[in-house]
Amino acid sequence: MRPYFIILLSVITILLSGCGGSPSAQNPDAVPPKKNAVSPQAYNLTLNQSLMIPQGQYARHQGKKITPKFLTIHSTQNPHSSAGARMHAIALINGRLKSKNNSLGYLSWHYTVDANNVYQHLPDNEEGQHADYDGAGNKSSLGIEMCENAGNSREATLDHTARLAAYLMRLHRIPLDNIVPHQHWRRIRYSDGRDLGHKNCPHFLMDGGKPGPKWEAFKNRIRRYLQQ
Ligand SMILES: [Zn+2]
Repeated sequence: MRPYFIILLSVITILLSGCGGSPSAQNPDAVPPKKNAVSPQAYNLTLNQSLMIPQGQYARHQGKKITPKFLTIHSTQNPHSSAGARMHAIALINGRLKSKNNSLGYLSWHYTVDANNVYQHLPDNEEGQHADYDGAGNKSSLGIEMCENAGNSREATLDHTARLAAYLMRLHRIPLDNIVPHQHWRRIRYSDGRDLGHKNCPHFLMDGGKPGPKWEAFKNRIRRYLQQ
């Protein structure tokens, strides 16, 4: 492995600490669609499931089941030019994103989005470790990370994320009120019980560290896709 990649992975691990299926004929991990579920194609989405974390390994070694009721939106806070969606998928399938502070031993989440790709990492019915340690956020939500790598269009990434959110809302019957920023969840660290409060994530959609006009504009973008 090239040295810069190792450094990059270390940076990701630090930046993502505390941060974090859908149908496919080929992938046995994918959750079967509900009857009448909309397709990703209806939202002009292609979900890449070719690099999902192997069942039973790394961040899936516990395989705790959930029923998704919320979507938790994050951003990676990683500006490195190579830190796009595919690179995060590769880090996850190789068990590189470890955590000493949560009960799983790894960071994990369900989807990573950049301007051009959506990679799925976990089936929709498995718990991730992206929001609030052993709190309600991880136990009830799907984690979506938006990439911030240099050269990646933020506007296109936001639009892509809004389409993914609309699709997942339809698929799992999640209301718009339950689309929340990571900031929504209070973090009580598993390792030492320390109250870390609410994280300013995704930072570029928060106003003064809280949901405000920028978050509302993002939700309006989702609303428009829901109405199409
Ligand atoms: Zn986050």
